[in-house]
Formats: sequence, structure tokens, C-alpha cells
Amino acid sequence: MATNSLSSLNGIGEQRAKAFEKLSVFSVDDLLRHFPRTYIDWTTPKPIVDAENGEICVFKAKICEPFAEKRASSGILVSKTRIYDGTAYAVLTFFNQPYLKQQLKPGTTWLFRGKVNISFFGCELTSPQINKENDAGILPVYPLTSGITNTIIQRAVRSAFSKRGDEQNDPLPADIRQRFSLAHRRWAFEQMHFPKSFDTLDIARRRFIFEELLLLSLGIFHLKGRRTSLTTNIICRSDPRDFISSLPFSLTGAQLRAINDISADMGKNSPMNRLVQGDVGCGKTVVAAAAVYIAVKSGFQAAMMAPTEILATQHFQSLSPMLSSLGIRCALLTGSMKAAEKSSVCKFLSQGEIDFIIGTHAIIQEKVTFANLGLVVADEQHRFGVRQRAGLSAKGENPHTLIMSATPIPRTLALMVYGDLDVSVINELPPGRQKVDTFLIDDTKRQRAYGFIAKNVLEGRQAYIVCPLIEVNEEDDGLKAVEAFTNELKTKIFPDFTVEFLHGKQKPAVKDKIMRDFADGKTQILVSTTVIEVGVNVVNASVMVIENAERFGLSQLHQLRGRVGRGSAKSYCLLMSNTKSKESLARLRVMCSTNDGFAIAEQDLSLRGPGDFFGDRQHGLPALRVANFASDMAVLTQAQAAASDILSRDPELSMYEHRGLRDMIANMFEYNGIFN
Ligand code: ADP
Ligand code: MG
Repeated sequence: MATNSLSSLNGIGEQRAKAFEKLSVFSVDDLLRHFPRTYIDWTTPKPIVDAENGEICVFKAKICEPFAEKRASSGILVSKTRIYDGTAYAVLTFFNQPYLKQQLKPGTTWLFRGKVNISFFGCELTSPQINKENDAGILPVYPLTSGITNTIIQRAVRSAFSKRGDEQNDPLPADIRQRFSLAHRRWAFEQMHFPKSFDTLDIARRRFIFEELLLLSLGIFHLKGRRTSLTTNIICRSDPRDFISSLPFSLTGAQLRAINDISADMGKNSPMNRLVQGDVGCGKTVVAAAAVYIAVKSGFQAAMMAPTEILATQHFQSLSPMLSSLGIRCALLTGSMKAAEKSSVCKFLSQGEIDFIIGTHAIIQEKVTFANLGLVVADEQHRFGVRQRAGLSAKGENPHTLIMSATPIPRTLALMVYGDLDVSVINELPPGRQKVDTFLIDDTKRQRAYGFIAKNVLEGRQAYIVCPLIEVNEEDDGLKAVEAFTNELKTKIFPDFTVEFLHGKQKPAVKDKIMRDFADGKTQILVSTTVIEVGVNVVNASVMVIENAERFGLSQLHQLRGRVGRGSAKSYCLLMSNTKSKESLARLRVMCSTNDGFAIAEQDLSLRGPGDFFGDRQHGLPALRVANFASDMAVLTQAQAAASDILSRDPELSMYEHRGLRDMIANMFEYNGIFN
């Protein structure tokens, strides 16, 4: 399509087209979607008398006197004049712009924009931008790159509009536009680049936000529909009742519901792809064990992947006694095992003499083969890439997959973050759990905090102290670092207690030993980075201290806090922070006021946006360009409604009026076969 090529536009030759590529602008369509990052408003000048020092203002004012020019000793030409707008005077200063005096004649009126400097001499603008009185508008400010200026982009966009004047196509079907009061694309593009007013800009922006969220929802719903049409030969119809009655406690209603969901999924001939989401300590592990039981008793093997060796070992230690007594042969496979041990485990696995294997993903991904893998459980999916899951799934014929996550995600986001997964929520804690009392304190109360830790340790319990850094870092002065702080605690504060440290740079065997010593009660105080965040279970730990707490996200703080309060002892979390920032303090106070992970996640979303949830884009979903999950929730709900409506009428988007949507989805998901 020649008309879509950039070089068809005025002022764009081959070289400029190349420069545009650095902005990911390869075509006229891309250019129109290269939206301004902000706008300069020339339409609402400020009375000079109201201007405040340091503010960027637009003044509409008359030149009062001829320019006064002076050459500074450095040779620079300094010209000054005064302007008046009926409320006050201001002085304008320019450097090396001798030609300006021809234009800015006394008595003429202009618009001036610049940073206001108010001093003893009055109001002054230095080298302001100048605009004609009648040219005032809301002007776009674009993301730029070398070789591409704001003016070049403005000109190119104007040229694109004039060339495409006849274009009527809009990929959003007219009925959807009407139902959700969305602007036509052509008009919306114009308003995004050269808005008539901020109101029209909002209308235009809403249209593109809707469009983007609609495409995303259509893609996800479609992927989900496709998955449920996949078939598997792995049908697990065994009953988990014997497993459930073998447990030393009775399950919560939420745990039972999750097990029911799982058991129903695994009994179908399409592969399960379910996420079990629930706060730390809600008891996800036994839910996973129930799934393992169902799979093995139906004649299949099961595998569980944990993100670290510590966790894999811990799962093995808690699950293997539970399951072995029911006749399930369990094994552990970790990188630090001896080669001979590993190879014998692998041999038994491939011969089907091991029913259930627990390991880290690195190991399971290597040359392990299964006799008949039927279920894959991935713990703490946030540390697992989609690709790693896929790698394991490939070892069986579409095995069922179950993912456990302790990161509560606001309901509206869950669908987006987890894409095509079904979700079971465990929103209930086992009975008898006490809430973890949380306090926000600063350095003035540090000695009291130490006293509090000592008291708990003397009563036989253990404490975690989390620091943001491993080593002292000169740039981050004031941040606690694990190694140095451990030394200080050992020598000065707690000489009579055993204090150890743990961080991600230690060798796996070292970490393992330190963690085991803590779990066995040999270490009383464990100083660490956030490596302990994920899943580790030490029931006797009752105090969690988090240094420089303002450095962590709410969801992360919540995860950390979940390391305590796992046993019967009353537990505490001390958030140490000297921050003065109002926002940080507000966030930290949320932690003190609730223990509910979902409530905290909602707050985190509204305070910090969705960055935390989307992390390193492990979810594999397309990035959003205009929409924002924190502020565009209402539009998301509408777009989801529109998406299900469209797909119910036209599941493959094969109707003529949906062709535009179909192309755009393929583009967004960078995957042409998404609809076929
Ligand atoms: P998480 O959801 O954080 O993975 P775990 O599965 O590690 O939680 O469970 C935390 C603790 O609670 C474990 O010691 C487990 O044995 C115990 N537990 C799980 N379910 C129940 C229950 N219904 N009643 C009592 N204790 C339970
Ligand atoms: Mg867990």
C-alpha cells in the first residue's frame, strides 16, 4: 500500500523515514498512532498579575516599547522590552535574536510562553516562545528521537490528514460506536493531534482507550475459547475424598471450592489451565496436593515446579509424607543433588516408577522425560515465565496445568494479567489464624523495636529482618544492607542471639543451609533481602521487621508480612521508615490498617498503577499504548462487555464489519494466526 508509506507525506524522504523507525513509526498508520505525550495550551493566557514565580505561563500582551539592545562582555547580544496585558507589566529578555525587533513592534499584541521569574524588578520572561495572537491552539508535544523534531512530526501528521481526507473506514463497527458513545476514528485522530479543546481531546482519547481495551479483550477471550476447544487424552475422574479425609485438619470452604473446580476441570477432555489465587497462608499447597492425588489415582504422573530449591525442598518435605501414606511415590529433583542421584530419579520417572516429582524449573526443563505426565503444578507463578510453563507442558500431551499464586490481583485485572486462565480464589484463611499486627515506626523508636525483637526471641520465637540491599552502596546512603547490618546486629545489638544472613548472591547450597538452620530453629534472627518473600514457611517466626519499608511496593510488603503469623503465636510486622513523603506514608498506613491481600492490591493499583502486577510482562500479553489499567477501569468493563457481545455473534470475526478489528488484533498480539 503505497499510500500508507511514510515517504508519501510532505517533507519526508528516505532518510527521515529511517529516523522515524526509531520511534517505531513505519507507516502513516503508525504515525497517526504516535500520539503526543502532552500538549501546550496557548488558548488560556494568564493575567500577568496572577503569575507565580517559577510557573510556566502563557501571557497575551502588547509590546510597550522598542527593544533595548546591549552587547554583554561575552559578546552576546541581550535585548529587552516590556509587555503589558492590562493587569501588569512584564520584562522580556532575549539573547542573540536581533531580528525579533522587526516583528515585535510596539503596539502589537502576541502570545508569550515561558517560565516566570519574579524578583524585586518585577515579572520577567527569558527567551519565551512566541505565537501570533490568532494562531493560538492546543499544540501537541511528541516523543522525539534524533533527526525528528516536534515540527517535523506536526507537519507530517497534517500532511497525512490532508491526504486521507476521504477515508471513511473505522474498524470499530458503527453499532458499537453508537452504543458506547465513541467518536469516529477520523475525527478522534484529528483531536488527538490537534485538539480543539481539552474536552474534545478527552472524547478522542476515550475512543482510543476503548478501542485498545476492546482489541485486548477480544484477543484474550478468543484465546481462551480456543484453549477450551483443545483436546487431551488425560482424563482424571478419580475422587479426592479419601485424600481430604486423610488430612489432619478440615479444609476451609474456599479450599473445597477450589478442589471442586480442579476436579471438574481435570475430568474434562480439554486441558485444565487454572490459577488458584489466595493470600499467603490460605493453604494452597494442600489444594495442589489434592490435584496431584486426583491425577495419580487416575493413572498419570504429576510434576510440581517451584521457583527456588528451598521451596522445592520444603514442598517435598510437607507433601511427601502426606501423599506417600496414600500410596503415591514422590521424589525430589534439584540442581544440588549428586549426578548419580539425579540420573536415577530421571530413570525412575521415565519408567513410570515415580508418580510425583517436585523440583525447580531449571531441572524439570532439562532432559527429564515422563512416562505419562498428566498434571503440572507451578507454584508462585509470578516467578515463572509463560515460556517455562509451556516447556513443561510440552512434555506431556496437553497435560492439565495448575498455577498457584499468592499475589492477590484486583478482580478486573485478573483477566488481563492471567490472560487465558480460569481462576479460583481462596478468600478465606484456616480457622484460628490471628491477624499480624503491623506498626509503622521511624528511627526514633529503633531501640524499642530491638527490645521488642529480643523479648520475642527470649520467649522462644524467631524474627526476620528484611533489608533492601545486599551490600552497602554509597549512592543509596541510608538504606540498610544485609551483610553490614547483620554484623552490626551480631556485635552490638544481639550478641547473645544467633543472627544469620541470606541473599540472592549466595551459592544455592549456602542459602539452603541458612534457610534450613532457620527453619530448624538454630538461627534466631534471619537478616535477608526479599529472597524470603516467596513461599517459605517457618511456623515459629513471629516478628517481621522491614527496613526502609518505603522502598517496597504494597503487594511486596504484604508478601513479606505473610512469612509470619503462620503458627499459633501472635505475630507482628514492624515497618521501619524515615520517609517524609505523604504518598509513601499513606501507602504504609494501608498495611497497618488491613491484612486483606485483595484490599491491599486494590490500593496498590490505585496508588501506584498496574506496574507491579504486570511486572516484567511475563504474562505475555501485548503492551498497552493509550489505556491505563489504574485509571481506565470503567472503560475496561465496557470494552469487555462489547467483546463478549461481538464474539457471541461472530466467534471467528469473519463478518465483513469485523474485518478491521481482526487485522488490528493480529497486529496487537503480533500473531497472525490468532483468528483463522
Ligand atoms: P500458602 O497458601 O501460603 O501456600 P500453605 O499451603 O503453605 O499456604 O499453608 C500454610 C499452613 O496452613 C500450612 O502449615 C498448612 O498445613 C496449613 N493449613 C492449610 N490448610 C489448612 C486448614 N484448612 N486448616 C488448618 N491448617 C491448614
Ligand atoms: Mg505456598
